[in-house]
Amino acid sequence: MDVQYISTKLKENSVSTFSAERLVFFREVESTQDIAKELAIMGFKDGTVILAEAQTKGRGRMNRKWLSPPGGIWFSTILRPNIEIDRLPILNFVSSLAVTKAVKRLYGLEVYCKWPNDVVVGNKKLSGSLIEAEVLHNSIIYSIIGIGVNVNNEIPDEIKESSTSILEALGKRVKIEDLLIEILLQLDKLYQEFISGFYIKILNEWKTYTNFLGKVVYIIRNGEKIRGVAVDVDAQGSLLLRLQDDSLMRIRHGEMSMRLI
Ligand code: ADP
Repeated sequence: MDVQYISTKLKENSVSTFSAERLVFFREVESTQDIAKELAIMGFKDGTVILAEAQTKGRGRMNRKWLSPPGGIWFSTILRPNIEIDRLPILNFVSSLAVTKAVKRLYGLEVYCKWPNDVVVGNKKLSGSLIEAEVLHNSIIYSIIGIGVNVNNEIPDEIKESSTSILEALGKRVKIEDLLIEILLQLDKLYQEFISGFYIKILNEWKTYTNFLGKVVYIIRNGEKIRGVAVDVDAQGSLLLRLQDDSLMRIRHGEMSMRLI
């Protein structure tokens, strides 16, 4: 990873939050998310990005394994938004929208946002995010967005069926630094909107990058499959599912995974 190149490009663009001075780079770590937490506790600023070439213990939601071999983009960023805590789930849309817009802009691939925070090509996961926060007395001490994108890396066998990479989708290797920079620039713009309270704008834009609304999906909750039509995503970021008996079920993100049928 050419960190000098990334710094120069970030300096050339006017970024508000994710500045070159706040980039922390490692060749290999257990988890960028855990380092971000430690640095956040130490007082590192809003916009600090912890980037690694590889993670040995990357994690997804509910401590699921996130495989992070060299060749992908694996980073976590420290944020200190001064917002109501019930708006934190909107960060799921900020992160998946930033990745989707960046990938579309650079490579023109048909990528979509999948509720709550994945980015897919067809039915395969290209990117995932993890949002965590430390909250005290209803205010946010820090929040961390972790983002993983399969770029030039081999997809490990255990997730071959369900995952893809830029290399696989595009049929060629790309300059990984350029994608990271574009993601950070998109993230920077969306994060300004987020802290300015433009939640509905973010959500509405996110919806234009989805392809599951109006379709039959199933939700897996505690091992149980719930089938319905994905009608909408509401202002809190919950999925509205129309069930077979015509009732409406509101599903908060978190414990749930959504699959397209
Ligand atoms: P989901 O939202 O799909 O339920 P998570 O966001 O919790 O899942 O991410 C963890 C899951 O993602 C793992 O259980 C694994 O199936 C899958 N996974 C792990 N590493 C990768 C990767 N590099 N690319 C795509 N998917 C991955």
